[in-house]
Amino acid sequence: MSVGDSALVIGRFAPSPTGALHAGSLVAALASYLHARAQGGQWLVRMEDVDTPRCVQGSDALILQQLAACGLHSDGQVIYQSERHAQYQAALDQLVAQGLAYPCGCTRKDIEATQNTLRHHAAVYPGTCRAGLEGKPARAWRLNVQAVIDRYLLATPFTWDDERLGAQTQDVAREVGDFVLFRADGLWAYQLAVVVDDAAQGITQVVRGADLVDNTARQMLLQLALQLPTPRYLHTPLVLAANGEKLSKQNGAQALDLSNPQAALNAAAEVLGLPAQEDDALNAWTHATREAYYNSGFA
Ligand SMILES: [Zn+2]
Repeated sequence: MSVGDSALVIGRFAPSPTGALHAGSLVAALASYLHARAQGGQWLVRMEDVDTPRCVQGSDALILQQLAACGLHSDGQVIYQSERHAQYQAALDQLVAQGLAYPCGCTRKDIEATQNTLRHHAAVYPGTCRAGLEGKPARAWRLNVQAVIDRYLLATPFTWDDERLGAQTQDVAREVGDFVLFRADGLWAYQLAVVVDDAAQGITQVVRGADLVDNTARQMLLQLALQLPTPRYLHTPLVLAANGEKLSKQNGAQALDLSNPQAALNAAAEVLGLPAQEDDALNAWTHATREAYYNSGFA
């Protein structure tokens, strides 16, 4: 990354307001911030509250307070997915008009009944409604993955490069299937919302936790299908709970202790392989850590 490119760099942190930030989510926030700032870029915050039943009232304000206490301020207005139905509808309409999305009338039971054995945790949708609903009412809308692959002459499996993890591959049609864009419960699917929002915010690099790496191929297919630019991707190490799983509220993650923001930031920096900084002033802390990040070669 040369200095001349710096005006173009825009990163983001996109938490779901389902509770307070914890040690794990601060790693993603800090990494995305450092990655953008080490290149002289901008850093934006987006509230991923598209799955409204999961959101907790007031969590958005709490998260922004926690970020501010750590010296992390969005360079632009914070956007909320719950206010962006029109943009998501326009994207779905565009896909439907191009023959790349179709309505699905299957229930979860219908889909599971088609599987001999359940692979992974969720059944891969077998494409039942690709040729039409056959009288069933539409419940959800799905992307026709093979149609996107054919339209854009994509190789199978789909291959992409992560800036930390290197080459990644996924056979989206076989391993994931025609994934949902608009859910049977009337909510927009995470994949569609993220892709529309990243493009709307001009995001050039997505830095987020490694638990989301599996979503990336789907999001890239959607970017192609919607003729949107593809950002660069970097997935950060995860903070693990005592049981070895990703730290989350469900396995006992505590809300960040903001009585000592530097301690919380130093712990997050350590996960990223960066040295602790002793400075008491947040500005000095972020400056020193930005330098360390830049010199670490991530940026
Ligand atoms: Zn179906």
